[in-house]
Amino acid sequence: VYSELKNRVAVVTGGSKGIGTAISERFGKEGMKVVINYHSDEKGAQAAADTVKKNGGDAVIVQADIGSEEGAQKLIDAAVENFGDLDVWVNNAGMENQVATKDMSLDDWNKVINVNLTGVFLGTKMALRYFTDHNKQGNIINMSSVHEQIPWPTFAHYAASKGGVKLFTQTVAMEYAKQNIRVNAIGPGAINTPINAEKFADPEQKATTTSMIPMGRIGDPEEVAAVAAWLASDESSYVTGITMFVDGGMTLYPSFQGGRG
Ligand code: NAD
Repeated sequence: VYSELKNRVAVVTGGSKGIGTAISERFGKEGMKVVINYHSDEKGAQAAADTVKKNGGDAVIVQADIGSEEGAQKLIDAAVENFGDLDVWVNNAGMENQVATKDMSLDDWNKVINVNLTGVFLGTKMALRYFTDHNKQGNIINMSSVHEQIPWPTFAHYAASKGGVKLFTQTVAMEYAKQNIRVNAIGPGAINTPINAEKFADPEQKATTTSMIPMGRIGDPEEVAAVAAWLASDESSYVTGITMFVDGGMTLYPSFQGGRG
């Protein structure tokens, strides 16, 4: 627990399940006040909010499409109206679908880019406006992926969106460094969340994924949330513009493990 985080106000996009829920709940343990955004799963968001409160924090849930400017505006408004401030904005919402690039519809492409990349831009812009207007040394955390670095055939839109998040994060970090606004990304590997539920329910597919992870296991959302808490805290006060991979070594060229090659 980072004591300075107590009472700080956070927005977490896509907080109704998976990594977004784990980050919200961890922020609750830090005594933070969390605006939990959801798109369609109100029940999931409410359950996360209940846990945040049980953990010692406070929470409200807000329906919004983070791929729209009105959606992002709704979230900053909720932070100010309910908790009177904003300190941390986590652009976590994301989606993927598998399709060969030659068969990818423009709609497939636009949907993924809109949530994963445009959503990160819109959330970041809202947060930056608040931080600069209020002279705050705020903190922005973007959920990237190991696929900002590792190519992923049949997920070209997803990989493109995460590659975009990487350079967007670096650029904005540099642009606002003088104001002490820190902007970082987290690059999860394979994490046990609903996005992967179908894949990991199949023992063969799960074994294939596990074989690509030097540590030999799938990660838990709480292990991603721990990094988000550190990046949000003052312990990381000199860290900006990085992607911190949380991947059990997946980005380390695992095919070379054991001296192969
Ligand atoms: P998830 O599917 O469990 O959760 C994604 C969340 O984003 C959901 O709550 C969903 O409702 C929300 N969302 C989707 N579209 C939205 C929109 N338009 N507006 C608001 N919210 C929207 O997935 P997850 O595994 O928890 O993923 C969270 C983030 O982590 C994503 O950005 C994902 O790309 C990234 N990530 C996940 C993994 C993994 O293995 N699980 C690996 C690398 C990166």
